[in-house]
Amino acid sequence: MRCPLSATANARIYLSPPHMSGQEQAYIGEAFANNWIAPLGPHINAFESEISDYVGSGGAAAVSSGTAAIHLALRLLGVGEGDRVCCPSFTFIASANPIRYLGAEPVFIDSDPESWNMSPAALERALALGARFGQLPKAVIVVHLYGCMANMKEIMSICSRYGVPVVEDAAESLGSTYEGRQSGTFGRFGIFSFNGNKIITTSGGGMLVSDDTLALEKARFLATQARDDAPHYQHSQMGYNYRMSNVLAGIGRAQLAVLNERVDARRKVYHIYEEALKPWEEIRFMPELPGTRSNRWLTALTIDSPHAEAVIKGIMAGMASANIEVRPLWKPLHMQPVFSDSAFYTHSAAGTAVCEDLYHRGICLPSGSSLALEDQGRVIDVIQDVMHQLSGIAAKAVNQR
Ligand SMILES: *Cc1c(COP(=O)(O)O)cnc(C)c1O
Repeated sequence: MRCPLSATANARIYLSPPHMSGQEQAYIGEAFANNWIAPLGPHINAFESEISDYVGSGGAAAVSSGTAAIHLALRLLGVGEGDRVCCPSFTFIASANPIRYLGAEPVFIDSDPESWNMSPAALERALALGARFGQLPKAVIVVHLYGCMANMKEIMSICSRYGVPVVEDAAESLGSTYEGRQSGTFGRFGIFSFNGNKIITTSGGGMLVSDDTLALEKARFLATQARDDAPHYQHSQMGYNYRMSNVLAGIGRAQLAVLNERVDARRKVYHIYEEALKPWEEIRFMPELPGTRSNRWLTALTIDSPHAEAVIKGIMAGMASANIEVRPLWKPLHMQPVFSDSAFYTHSAAGTAVCEDLYHRGICLPSGSSLALEDQGRVIDVIQDVMHQLSGIAAKAVNQR
């Protein structure tokens, strides 16, 4: 055990804390100076055009959260009562909740071992069966988990073959690319999140991007209570209060200006983990598909050993006593009580779920762009301690044979 030198040497290390650039206050000050303290104003317009310039989309609509952006995307695709929507099982629940907001049912798709993201094979089986029974989903939601890209070439080709539109939940992958193209720009709609734990943050917020600028106009309309063009308040459709605040859009502009630095910093954190943990063959990091570049929002790994669950337990306990925040990988949504009656398609027709296995054997490490080298050293020490103990146990088991 290492002895903390001082109280601060044992300060809590967070998984993904906000990382301000220092310019945010100037943008907030501008909003105050001009009294644009509202869900409209110049920062919102500028933030929208800066995001669409950055990712290379036709346009963008700033909203109050990534979840709201998914909700609007599905609504714009006509998802409604009784419809089906495909969604990866291995993701945060916010990917799927908006399906239910609209009275539709999620059809969960397993991960593939190559990307940990949506399995093209499982998706193909789900769509083939849907087509056969006249129950094709209204949309397919794809997620780029922890910043690593899904197999977009195959997924886009399957979806276009069946004529099903794609919504990219790129909440975790802003700045990640696939063959040079930004995540969020492959599907009919893409969404980003600026929640406090994401790679850049507005404290809370989201963005809907698309090449369909008319659809984005409709999104802004729906996000402001679907108010008709009339001097009085008139509404012919149900809307939402989903626009982003002008103050927060100012924070977003300052954050976006340093996004590339944030991506480089998170990738560096990842590479330091990779290098330090190389001696242990049983440690496997989330793969980056060929031709892709992950923003490495969170460094995620699995333990490839029969003792995996004990190792994960040991790491969790070691981190807790070292005052370090770590998390298991996302618990698959088809295993969540709230979705217990939803359909689920496994990667292999034989029926074993890849994402359940990842969940049981995996963990996310502190990956913030402001993570100090010494602090990352504390995280690595804990893992190395546990791995040494485990090799001791494994060696003993061999000797006893
Ligand atoms: C964070 C996140 C969301 C939701 O974004 P909010 O801005 O928190 O609503 C959706 N999907 C994934 C994969 C996320 O990680």
